[in-house]
Amino acid sequence: MKHALTVDVEDYFQVSAFAPNINFQDWPNWPLRVERNTQALLELFEQKNVKGTFFVLGWVAERCPELIREVAKAGHEIASHGMTHQLVYSQKPEVFREETIASKKLIEDIIGQQVKGYRAASYSVTPKSLWALETLIDAGFEYDSSIFPVHHDRYGMPGAPLTIHTAQTVDQKQITEFPLTSANFMGRRLPVAGGGYFRIYPYFFTRMMLKRAAVEINQPFIFYLHPWEVDPDQPRIPGASALSRFRHYTNLKRCMPRLSQLLDDFEFTTVQDVIDTQRAQGTLTTFDYTTLEARL
Ligand SMILES: [Zn+2]
Repeated sequence: MKHALTVDVEDYFQVSAFAPNINFQDWPNWPLRVERNTQALLELFEQKNVKGTFFVLGWVAERCPELIREVAKAGHEIASHGMTHQLVYSQKPEVFREETIASKKLIEDIIGQQVKGYRAASYSVTPKSLWALETLIDAGFEYDSSIFPVHHDRYGMPGAPLTIHTAQTVDQKQITEFPLTSANFMGRRLPVAGGGYFRIYPYFFTRMMLKRAAVEINQPFIFYLHPWEVDPDQPRIPGASALSRFRHYTNLKRCMPRLSQLLDDFEFTTVQDVIDTQRAQGTLTTFDYTTLEARL
């Protein structure tokens, strides 16, 4: 079984955890490290002969178009991570719409290919922002990977399906949804899809839980990482809370060797590839999100 390997291409100063400490207007003042860090991931993926999906932030694509072309040229799938990394449920729907359309077009112009996939900043498609799915459909996206069916302070949609499915919104509009991976641990759903969880949990635990998740859903899991997570020397953000520092800085040094081990322990491919395989097997169910909205 080939699982989905994904990278959210953004820089260390753009993460939601540091949003209270860094103004969007100040982003250009922070030294960019996303190029070298993404290239380090590209090198590892080439060594391991694996392809993945890179969800690229429009803000980064605008400043580093050559990097995005390099990723595409290496045979990876390019998808969108939005434009400015604002939480969807904190944005006005019309601003979200403008940014979503603009980021898709920007990336498509850079790589000369259609962009089909979308991932929201910090998985912020939640019960408060289900309207975003309709916007994604209208903007021409074919799949989304923004829903985390767990409890978390910043994101999460407990009750949403765990498997890849067709998400149905109002007016029978549809988009494929690849929810972020969680697994049952002592009676509750534990997020195990990557990022901070991958750095904080011991590696043997992640491996065990990812195996468990794939058995539970009888489908490939989806794994994510950020370029800044393999960069122990990144500048530290002054004034960040203890929780944010813990989530962002724990085990940065261990991340690259762990990732290398993960790529040895599991087989990976792009999101589009996994969706195509599941669709061909006829295993995709449909979930009507208007029923979830109605229950809230
Ligand atoms: Zn992000």
